[in-house]
Amino acid sequence: MEKIKMGKIVEMDGDEMTRIIWKMIKDELLSPFVELNTEYYDLGLPHRDETNDQVSIDAGEAIKKYHVGVKCATITPNAQRVEEYNLKEMWKSPNGTIRAILDGTVFRTPVLVSGIKPSVRSWEKPITIARHAYGDVYKSTEFRIEKPGKAELVFTSEDGEEKRATIYDFECGGVLQGMYNKDTSIRSFAHSCFQYALSTRQDLWFSTKDTISKQYDQTFKLIFQEIYENEYKDAFEKAGIEYFYTLIDDAVARVIRSKGGYIWACKNYDGDVMSDMVSTAFGSLAMMTSVLVSPDGNYEYEAAHGTVTRHYYRHLNGETTSTNPIATIFAWTGALRKRGELDGNHELMAFADKLEKASLDVIESGRMTKDLVGLWQGSEAVALSTEEFIKAIRAEMEK
Ligand code: NAP
Ligand code: MG
Repeated sequence: MEKIKMGKIVEMDGDEMTRIIWKMIKDELLSPFVELNTEYYDLGLPHRDETNDQVSIDAGEAIKKYHVGVKCATITPNAQRVEEYNLKEMWKSPNGTIRAILDGTVFRTPVLVSGIKPSVRSWEKPITIARHAYGDVYKSTEFRIEKPGKAELVFTSEDGEEKRATIYDFECGGVLQGMYNKDTSIRSFAHSCFQYALSTRQDLWFSTKDTISKQYDQTFKLIFQEIYENEYKDAFEKAGIEYFYTLIDDAVARVIRSKGGYIWACKNYDGDVMSDMVSTAFGSLAMMTSVLVSPDGNYEYEAAHGTVTRHYYRHLNGETTSTNPIATIFAWTGALRKRGELDGNHELMAFADKLEKASLDVIESGRMTKDLVGLWQGSEAVALSTEEFIKAIRAEMEK
């Protein structure tokens, strides 16, 4: 059989258990069928340290050049990791570095299989959460107040003009917080959301609390509305999808009653909280995929989970592990499908579909990694090691 040819994508290798799974996926599930064409960046922690983290920057720039990347989970160093890997510095998170270069929004989507039912009975299709990962309470300034006094909000423009408002006249101790966001960042967020909705042909919901936050949240609402009307309305109508704004509390109620199958765009804090709720209700972190979409149309695919350190240490001890490779497989299929879409390479897109189907067929036949066994509601489930599971998918592919 002749291998499928493909345009170039950026491949970013990573750390620990996911690095091991990465190689298995390439060897067993990709290379036998596709003439893999990747520009390889080793974001494993030792190589980041060797290059003074230049490799993370280079990888981000490469995604700008080729528009599609696939990334393995990587360690974000903390004090313990600095010691463990004898690092020159506590390097920043590669995800943060790449996000800063691409200026994107992260979309998280669960992979559904029949046999594992979401906790919410009405959910039939995945719900994708788009989280604005900039500003708000994550970049706030705050302090405690210990005695009575007046708290004010003051803005001094570069040309010396002052704007001032009383926040509260404190008659006792309390707390204060100031936070911000930028029009440029909100605009990028909106573009990424509209583009991703078009590219996946799903409705887009956006929710804030603009009835209470009449300037702050209202700004988000108005920017989304303006960009939609001016730049995306026609394309949405043509694609038969809808943009829909509602209050966050109304959105929560509608989400629970819904069948799923849409994108829910959230402000930073809402997205943080709601993505944990939605992913837990759908099942397992190991079944959650993630894609960073930049406003100018670059895509970086990865698993939502980390490097699964606990399993890696067991692996180093010679134990067989049962780490779930699904989210990492789907990161690859996401990237290959996008490459195919951008190049009009239908064979490559069909391959991505087949690999996803083969992976899910194995689970639906009752063979799965240990993390899923407890969630399984079908007939008897068989727990496989990572290697056995990947081999089973390979056998399914060969069929
Ligand atoms: P984690 O790697 O996601 O793992 C947390 C736990 O979740 C695991 O111990 C395991 O539970 C379960 N789990 C996660 N993925 C699984 C999978 N594929 N199959 C089976 N079980 C899975 O998070 P962490 O332990 O907090 O972080 C480990 C490292 O990953 C850290 O150095 C962190 O910096 C990094 N990280 C990277 C990214 C990224 O690159 N995007 C994201 C998050 C974390 P059991 O042990 O109970 O089986
Ligand atoms: Mg969180």
